[in-house]
Amino acid sequence: MDQVPQPAPLPEMDHGSPAPPPAAKSAKPPKPPCAIHAAAESVGRCDMCKKTMCEVCDFAFPGHIHVCPVCVSAPPPGIAPRRTILSITGIALAVVGMAMWGALVTGAFSQLNPMVTGYMILLPIMGAFACSLSAIDRRLGNSALLWISAAISSLVTAVVLVTSLIGTLNR
Ligand SMILES: [Zn+2]
Ligand SMILES: [Zn+2]
Repeated sequence: MDQVPQPAPLPEMDHGSPAPPPAAKSAKPPKPPCAIHAAAESVGRCDMCKKTMCEVCDFAFPGHIHVCPVCVSAPPPGIAPRRTILSITGIALAVVGMAMWGALVTGAFSQLNPMVTGYMILLPIMGAFACSLSAIDRRLGNSALLWISAAISSLVTAVVLVTSLIGTLNR
């Protein structure tokens, strides 16, 4: 057993070699540009349309909701058509109620039961109210059509109530 113990390899004392280059991984891949400002780097994505947004475009809402300027100014599709249909239905029902009331005033329903004519006027107006009220969303911006629908429903109801009250009092 004349095996000579191998000396431990000495650490290389080469002071002349340059330090190893820093890891090139620290450079992150460039972020995609803002969907609106092509020159600006995006900071996130819109929660509604998923488009990239820069710091300027990022509209932060409570609850960590970030929305782009396009989605802030326009209500998201899918909700708007339903509300538009509701408000149009509201206006149509208010017009029907108004027409029924006009027919009653002119005596077109004189041979009908007053209870029947009352419902023929009240039901469309109640429906108009229900439609316009359910179309109005407090969280989102409401279009002019919605307010017109609500206003017409209220106006028709007021007119019918006042005139029927006067008619009752005159009797
Ligand atoms: Zn958006
Ligand atoms: Zn931007």
